[in-house]
Amino acid sequence: MAEMITIVCTNCPLGCRVSVEREADGSFKVSGNKCQRGYNFAVEEMTDPKRVLTTSVKVVDGEIPLVSVRTFPRIPKRLIPAAMGKIRKLRVRAPVRVGDVLVKDLLGTGADLLATRTVAKAKKKE
Ligand code: SF4
Repeated sequence: MAEMITIVCTNCPLGCRVSVEREADGSFKVSGNKCQRGYNFAVEEMTDPKRVLTTSVKVVDGEIPLVSVRTFPRIPKRLIPAAMGKIRKLRVRAPVRVGDVLVKDLLGTGADLLATRTVAKAKKKE
């Protein structure tokens, strides 16, 4: 029996409902997409779905203890538990600026882990 999924394409505001079916010969039958991006997205969702991972990282000597982060670009969904394991152990020293690369090429995915806010150094107590 052919494997089939239906998804909403998130590549543009139209949000097409796209169905993809894997045929017995390994090819894909895609319907509901209005463009090639929708085709590619649907096939990727069936074969190796990717997601943006958003979480936070501990900050040493910061005015707040955590900095929010995200992966850019998306990483394979199957690697999210391993990525979270690595991120939980991570400590960065303040100051951290929005856009700073905290991890380059996270788990060999080609995606970087970026800070999505700025955390200044904690003020010294007088
Ligand atoms: S299939 Fe194309 S037109 Fe439809 S939501 Fe995806 S990107 Fe937009």
